[in-house]
Amino acid sequence: MAIRKDKIVFFEQRLVDFFRKAGREHLPWRKPRKASPRGKKNSTAYEVWVSEIMLQQTQVSRVIGYYTRFLKRFPDVGSLAQASWEEFLPYYEGLGYYARGRNMLKTAKVLTEQYAGIFPRDKKLLQTLPGIGPYTASAILSFAYGDNHLAWDTNLKRVLGRFFFGGKQLIGDEVFWEDKFQTPKKVLNAALMDFGSAVCVARPKCGICPLSARCVYYREKGSGEQSTANKKQLTKNNQQALVSKKQKIDWREAQAYVFLHEHHTIYYSSDANKFQPFILPSGYTTRAGIKQYFQEKYGLSLSVRPPHQKMIISGGPILLVNAQILRGSPCFEIFHKKDVKWYTISK
Ligand code: SF4
Repeated sequence: MAIRKDKIVFFEQRLVDFFRKAGREHLPWRKPRKASPRGKKNSTAYEVWVSEIMLQQTQVSRVIGYYTRFLKRFPDVGSLAQASWEEFLPYYEGLGYYARGRNMLKTAKVLTEQYAGIFPRDKKLLQTLPGIGPYTASAILSFAYGDNHLAWDTNLKRVLGRFFFGGKQLIGDEVFWEDKFQTPKKVLNAALMDFGSAVCVARPKCGICPLSARCVYYREKGSGEQSTANKKQLTKNNQQALVSKKQKIDWREAQAYVFLHEHHTIYYSSDANKFQPFILPSGYTTRAGIKQYFQEKYGLSLSVRPPHQKMIISGGPILLVNAQILRGSPCFEIFHKKDVKWYTISK
């Protein structure tokens, strides 16, 4: 499908204009700590990498404090490569997803041993480093080195898909789109990230959008995306047997699968190899019921947040529940007293 050049120009101009007025230039990883010898003010590859790893599945507002503390303690690849897990952990603990942290240490060591502490300016080589995928590699190359790579993630695809195709299937891959845009990718990526998290969000704010005049999604009132979403939902329904609201299921008969965590460390019961969540007998399916079960059985105070995800699997309905152990609540001591095997997989 041909995409009109004037439409691409319109898209870029409006987006960059939005970025100049409302971009999040205050974010610490967008403000390099020192200018490079050539006077340029790009963030370093190390700064981009640390921020991108921390931002994976963690909110921007939460990452800011962690990032600043981390960079003070580990200002470069060399200092990080020398750190043990115990030294590293206090500056990472609380972000969750500890596999990411372990990969950071591994990557720092590989960089020191094989690349003289410098991130290679090559997308394929970057992707051989632990925890670096195509998106992070593109972010490093565009933000730190000014290279022509789009940070191809869900946000970016949603914005492009809506504006050019009304939310229907987005044609082309990142290489196709990288060639279409003339704006430096460092600017375009940051603009798309900010626009996708402030305006063209899951429920888009089309009424205040500077792109609406030529947006297909806006013109079609979102009908394209709805039908695609519906199709996806149908597939999901078939695959996972998610339950439609119309089906008559007695959820009081369900079993609750509880994913229990404290400070983002997840605890599992029974078989360590299978990492089972806690499976409660049927009847403990309300928030109050689940709280009561753990209080009575283990003396744990929990915060149980709705909504639970409802599923049907062979054997009957189940609820998937996330519950947090509240501060001050006894943890391992109680578990051991009760002779229950508890395992952590997050650390
Ligand atoms: S008009 Fe709406 S859908 Fe289109 S780009 Fe703007 S916010 Fe997104």
